[in-house]
Amino acid sequence: HSHITLLVRIVSYGAGLRLLIAQDVTQLRKIEQMRKDFVANVSHELRTPLTVLKGYLETLQELEQPLSPLMSHSIQQMQEQSERMQYLVDDLLLLSNLETQPKRILCVDIPTLLDKICKENEKLNNSAGRIELTLETKAHIKGDEHELRSAFSNLLGNALKYSPPRSWVKVCWRQTNQNLILEITDEGEGISDAEIPRITERFYRVDVKRAHKVAGTGLGLAIVKHVLLRHDAHLVVSSELHKGSTFSCVFPLEKKC
Ligand code: ADP
Repeated sequence: HSHITLLVRIVSYGAGLRLLIAQDVTQLRKIEQMRKDFVANVSHELRTPLTVLKGYLETLQELEQPLSPLMSHSIQQMQEQSERMQYLVDDLLLLSNLETQPKRILCVDIPTLLDKICKENEKLNNSAGRIELTLETKAHIKGDEHELRSAFSNLLGNALKYSPPRSWVKVCWRQTNQNLILEITDEGEGISDAEIPRITERFYRVDVKRAHKVAGTGLGLAIVKHVLLRHDAHLVVSSELHKGSTFSCVFPLEKKC
């Protein structure tokens, strides 16, 4: 059986004139599904050879006899690059799972989750910024804890990565009349208005020269965007060059549990 998917739109032209447009999007859906399957397969299949490679590199480095400078430099480079590839594959797989796997919705204790994420990041970046966590509300929300953790952790990681050492990163969980909002504010290098719309694209990194100094895959904010969309939430970015940025995750109040 072949199913046909129709996209039906009603276009109004005023004065009671309406047009019904039906478009066959079967082919588009198929191509989109093929793309998703392809990314899922590739990222999955790359993991095994990568693990083997890293294993051999470790063995080489632990060799008894002293290595020549060229040899030890080469091994170090290969290790760094395979590490980089590991991050890419992990992020791709995560992104792909977001497109293909169902969410596991539970009531997530956001204050506790944020506390954990802040502590983890403080340990990882002990030379970099300092984190101040403010919990204005104790609200929990219905969501997938694993997904929310990676989104929040990506945002906090970025705030620290793109800021000077010992600057402050402020994390605030609060409630307004209509929303629950997680705000992450840094005193970092900021992003220009022209770049803001592009930073959630896959693999997009602002200013490649600058970005090369900081490790990253360009997939973090794409992951954040997807996770939030899956929770009926959205990302708001406000930023000023050389002053800092605020990334806000805005959840509808109905998500509260
Ligand atoms: P990356 O792996 O490069 O960090 P992301 O998708 O997380 O990828 O972010 C995309 C780009 O947006 C980054 O390369 C960086 O240029 C910019 N960016 C993200 N967060 C911040 C921030 N807090 N301050 C300044 N620039 C940022």
